[in-house]
Amino acid sequence: MIIVLEPDLEHPEAVVQHIEESVSRYPGVTTRPYQFAGDRHHLTEIHIIGSTAQIPTEPFETIPGVLRVVRVTSRYRLIGRHDDHTRTAEFTYNGVTFGDRDVLVFAGLCAVDTREHVDSMMKALAAHGITTTRMGAYKPRTSPYDFQGLGKDCLPWVFELAGKHGIRMIAMEVTNDRHIDEVRQALETAGRPTGVMLQVGTRNAQNFELLKRIGQQREFPVLYKRGMGITLEESLNACEYVAHEGNPDIVFCLRGVKTHLGDPHRNLVDFGQIPVIRRQTRLPVCVDPSHSVGRMVFAPDGLPDIIHTVGQAIIAGATVVLVDFHPHPEKALCDGGQALRPEALPRFLRYIERVRAAYTDVVRDTGPTN
Ligand code: PEP
Ligand code: MN
Repeated sequence: MIIVLEPDLEHPEAVVQHIEESVSRYPGVTTRPYQFAGDRHHLTEIHIIGSTAQIPTEPFETIPGVLRVVRVTSRYRLIGRHDDHTRTAEFTYNGVTFGDRDVLVFAGLCAVDTREHVDSMMKALAAHGITTTRMGAYKPRTSPYDFQGLGKDCLPWVFELAGKHGIRMIAMEVTNDRHIDEVRQALETAGRPTGVMLQVGTRNAQNFELLKRIGQQREFPVLYKRGMGITLEESLNACEYVAHEGNPDIVFCLRGVKTHLGDPHRNLVDFGQIPVIRRQTRLPVCVDPSHSVGRMVFAPDGLPDIIHTVGQAIIAGATVVLVDFHPHPEKALCDGGQALRPEALPRFLRYIERVRAAYTDVVRDTGPTN
């Protein structure tokens, strides 16, 4: 059972205490409060865990400050939408708000290689008012002989350059809990010129110890990439682990699934599942067209498959895009064959803006069709 308080209460503690006292009368249940901070509203929820069937909802509904009481039927207690379309999926980190309103584009290098490439990529983003990027420092690679990423050594100058170009958030994969400490330490030493979203890669989609460690901190939000060889349900349960440990600020990213039925793309593009995730959970949905399509090939209309799949994602309601760019794809040390060039950025952004406008129109004009 979840008790949702009215947003922006001045003294939510008093209401929380009142509820906790009332709940303590029932045996075998515990309470756990959660805070959700968006830029428009702060929400508090009290989760009642255990044998809640015995607890009536009415007495709680009448407590001043309580907005509503939700009986949880799905396994996704924390990330679930619970049939409540008004339940917020919004959170703000370092001035960037995730949610349903705007589309955020995290364009950048798959793997950090040189200072010059990072500088010129961030410069291009800044020129188009983009404050979010991707920069891989720790690269999980299929072969031990492939470039493994520059690791913590590149963090000082990546963060410094981000500050220089007004980048507010970098999506950066961590494969080990030590990396979280390294990122935190490097950010501190650099004077916090930017922020980081911790990325869980597809290869770690069920690394429960890593998921728990990431969930045990709330300093950084989380970008969870769907497991390439597991079910959607298993991936959503992995996100529930992160939230259960204490961090509900999660973005769920589709990046394709591994099957030869997806050939000739690198993975079978799974963006048709966007409405499923949005129906079942309140997580903002991200798509990664680069790791799903995996190659720079063009349709007869002249647009790369990567751009077409972004369009398919936006028209289905995705609000975050994680995409590989590189100033010189031929020199990239990882995944250069799927990188767009910064010169393509203005067209790419215009395309997203137009498809998003089409989505907004379609939703407004069509409305529910059931
Ligand atoms: C990445 O985004 O850099 C990456 C390695 O993606 P994935 O985990 O989806 O393969
Ligand atoms: Mn890559």
